[in-house]
Amino acid sequence: GVITHTSTVTTPYRGAGRVPVGIGRKRMRVVVTGGAGFVGSHLVDKLIKRGDDVIVIDNFFTGRKENVMHHFGDHRFELIRHDVVEPILLEVDQIYHLACPASPVHYKYNPVKTIKTNVMGTLNMLGLAKRIGARFLLTSTSEVYGDPLEHPQKETYWGNVNPIGVRSCYDEGKRTAETLTMDYHRGADVEVRIARIFNTYGPRMCLDDGRVVSNFVAQAIRKQPMTVYGDGKQTRSFQYVSDLVDGLMALMDGEHIGPFNLGNPGEFTMLELAEVVKEVIDPSATIEFRANTADDPHKRKPDISRAKELLNWEPKVPLRDGLPLMVNDFRNRILNEDEGKGN
Ligand code: NAD
Ligand code: UDP
Ligand code: UDP
Repeated sequence: GVITHTSTVTTPYRGAGRVPVGIGRKRMRVVVTGGAGFVGSHLVDKLIKRGDDVIVIDNFFTGRKENVMHHFGDHRFELIRHDVVEPILLEVDQIYHLACPASPVHYKYNPVKTIKTNVMGTLNMLGLAKRIGARFLLTSTSEVYGDPLEHPQKETYWGNVNPIGVRSCYDEGKRTAETLTMDYHRGADVEVRIARIFNTYGPRMCLDDGRVVSNFVAQAIRKQPMTVYGDGKQTRSFQYVSDLVDGLMALMDGEHIGPFNLGNPGEFTMLELAEVVKEVIDPSATIEFRANTADDPHKRKPDISRAKELLNWEPKVPLRDGLPLMVNDFRNRILNEDEGKGN
């Protein structure tokens, strides 16, 4: 059955997503699905800071109340424990749809649930957007390019994805979510935005989500060797979370549907990343080679010319400046863990 969240239903301002923004813009009511997660919680911080009303929907699969706890008691903030696979009724102007496990460890944990989240979750949020005339933004991923045969990747590239591999629940799930988004736009006139996010890091990343930045940083802090998978020559481009949040908001409030690549074009091999972590955290840190995982993309680097031109956006924080910004948060949580308080 459909859940009516009565406490948030006051004035349904239909079509309010179309209101121009900028100085003197009206206060928005915004939903962030997955808002208790890493990226979502930073987005929530910035929306609240600019004066919006924010409703977070999260089932806490990988998200944590601690990430948004500092807003408890603020009348502009609301947190709903809800799984996006189930329908929900709300009245809002904008929907940022982030709910989905993002790291390979988490999305492979229950692949069928990952697909349901991407397909049924996205369908429900698009159905909601259609009913209330809200603007909808999908956080898709660079993984839609698969193991890319084009380098760097432009938004016009259709990708090289294995439909039956262990990553497919995520890659193909997001590709379907993009399809649904465009079909609701074409078929039901829903205002939509699509972001293709490249590897992002920063404070509040899950400590043990298996992603390379969180692994290396946590390992260096714990004085364990950094685990380099394969020969370590595969590349990724790492974006600091505040740059991503700026890009998502520019996209949502702008006039263009996308898809837009949002990522930092600085490209590093895993061995180079390990060097940077060493410089920033512990000069005595060591590395250890491990077998690589299946279907690991060899290289990845965004071409962000479209976002530069149409959203007037580009990342500002290079890896060497961004990494130190997550160290304190990681140190504190690791310390708490060691003291048996959980993270
Ligand atoms: P995260 O795991 O920290 O956040 C995801 C949030 O969604 C969590 O709070 C989780 O509890 C919630 N969630 C998961 N399934 C849900 C469900 N069925 N119902 C309700 N809530 C659910 O991950 P993140 O890094 O913050 O990623 C946010 C979004 O950005 C995801 O859609 C992800 O695919 C996308 N993305 C992230 C990156 C990255 O590098 N961080 C890269 C590409 C795309
Ligand atoms: N939906 C929702 N909240 C709403 C409106 C719709 O969760 O406010 C869900 C609805 O339950 C359905 C999905 O979104 O599962 C798609 O809705 P739509 O109206 O587009 O399709 P239909 O209900 O006709 O299948
Ligand atoms: N990786 C690694 N050591 C780790 C974790 C990951 O060398 O401890 C590698 C992994 O094989 C991949 C790259 O780092 O080539 C990025 O992996 P991540 O899971 O962070 O992101 P994704 O593969 O989704 O880009």
